[in-house]
Amino acid sequence: MPQPKYIIVLQCHIVKQRCSGFLCEQSFHQREDGFSDYSPDADIRYLNITCGGCCGRATLRKLSNFLKLLKKHTDITRNEVVMHFSSCICKENFHGPICPHYDYLKELVERQNLTWRQGTRFSKTAESRRDQNGHWLGKNPQQ
Ligand code: SF4
Ligand code: SF4
Repeated sequence: MPQPKYIIVLQCHIVKQRCSGFLCEQSFHQREDGFSDYSPDADIRYLNITCGGCCGRATLRKLSNFLKLLKKHTDITRNEVVMHFSSCICKENFHGPICPHYDYLKELVERQNLTWRQGTRFSKTAESRRDQNGHWLGKNPQQ
């Protein structure tokens, strides 16, 4: 696949009140989980932002600001940017169910004509606590 030049990770504003986002960045750095298609040798910039809180509408303005500055300060085009929805937005996990505004967030990203992908870090523990349909089974699914 063509390698992007810029990755944006969109994270849940509520989850980020207690999460630094380190494990998303670590997965990117190691090119694993949601980032496994990207070459370790590719020079890819990385930015994480949050949705700004429910309903996530601030995402539109943040992306607009990002694209304006990207154009002004770099030669990277929007076609070379890929936005990843963090796993805490698009997968059921310890933090809660999938974001209730996920479809709305996708619409905001698509309004900016940006490519998006689903997921960032894939926690093995969280994956073991979901059924085959992705529904959360709880902390002790065997009991
Ligand atoms: S809109 Fe979704 S991603 Fe944003 S704070 Fe609310 S639940 Fe989290
Ligand atoms: S996916 Fe995990 S590491 Fe990334 S922002 Fe959400 S809770 Fe934090």
